[in-house]
Amino acid sequence: MNQISEYPWKHERRFNAFSEYIRNRFGSRVQKLTIDAGFTCPNRDGTKGRGGCSYCDNNAFNPSYCEPQKSIAIQIAQGIEFHEKRYNKSTSFMAYFQAFSNTYAELSVLKERYSEALENESVIGIVIGTRPDCVDSEILDYLAELNEKIYVTLEFGIESCYDETLVKINRGHDYKTTRLAFEESRKRGIRTGGHMIIGLPGETREMILNEAEILSELKPDQLKFHQLQMVKGTQMAKDYLKNPGFYHEFKLTVYLELMIEFIERLSPEIVIERIAGETVKQYNLRESWGMRYDIILNKFEKMLEQKNSWQGKFYKAV
Ligand code: SF4
Repeated sequence: MNQISEYPWKHERRFNAFSEYIRNRFGSRVQKLTIDAGFTCPNRDGTKGRGGCSYCDNNAFNPSYCEPQKSIAIQIAQGIEFHEKRYNKSTSFMAYFQAFSNTYAELSVLKERYSEALENESVIGIVIGTRPDCVDSEILDYLAELNEKIYVTLEFGIESCYDETLVKINRGHDYKTTRLAFEESRKRGIRTGGHMIIGLPGETREMILNEAEILSELKPDQLKFHQLQMVKGTQMAKDYLKNPGFYHEFKLTVYLELMIEFIERLSPEIVIERIAGETVKQYNLRESWGMRYDIILNKFEKMLEQKNSWQGKFYKAV
């Protein structure tokens, strides 16, 4: 693909794509292997709250090979087999500790579980999904040490930059905690990622677009976006059934248009790992878009081209 030379833009595509970042960094494709390492979550066990975030059902996001009853080594081996069959390309992998809060345990337990994943010589790094309130200086110092030897990314669930939304969805932490977690990780040289949900209850279009500026100030290395989905059986799905008008339900094109406006305001330095994502149809209470992610992404890029738009087009560094 040709570089877009007529724009003040150094990337191959109209957004700062994760695939390009990985290729530049490792020289080839690297596949993430999702692992359920048997951690829990303080927003479920009563430490921070009970019942969890109102939209959460971890089962809806876990691939089939990934069950906490299986050892991490087995999940890694089965994940490699699954991806090798499917893509027949990847030879390097990253262990992605995704389910629940993967820094929520004693440091000795964390060390043990991360090391087990790194025993497989095809695994060249780890990505650790967690909550911003589940890291402290002891854990971050250890991850900084590990980061000297292998590739480490700490991926925080941000979900929203607004405290009133975080209360509505029962997140159990505020945005200040998120800012602190990013600052402390960055100080130690740990690569940071963030996960955002676009269209949480009560957030207007203006509030959503404003988050692009807030996130640019936060300076994560990379971000993932998901449109709001109603996962069957969650508290949010129950509330939705009582009051559907209160919830955003995006048609695909409307969502992509919103995301174009969003990334136009986002710092071009932030790598975008994902702009949307659907849960498995059987978990979705509302009608699915029913489209594979690569097709959605293709549509997004065509729209960027038609609108002569790109990430950071209206971004102003402060
Ligand atoms: S989304 Fe994450 S933090 Fe919230 S309840 Fe689920 S596992 Fe816990």
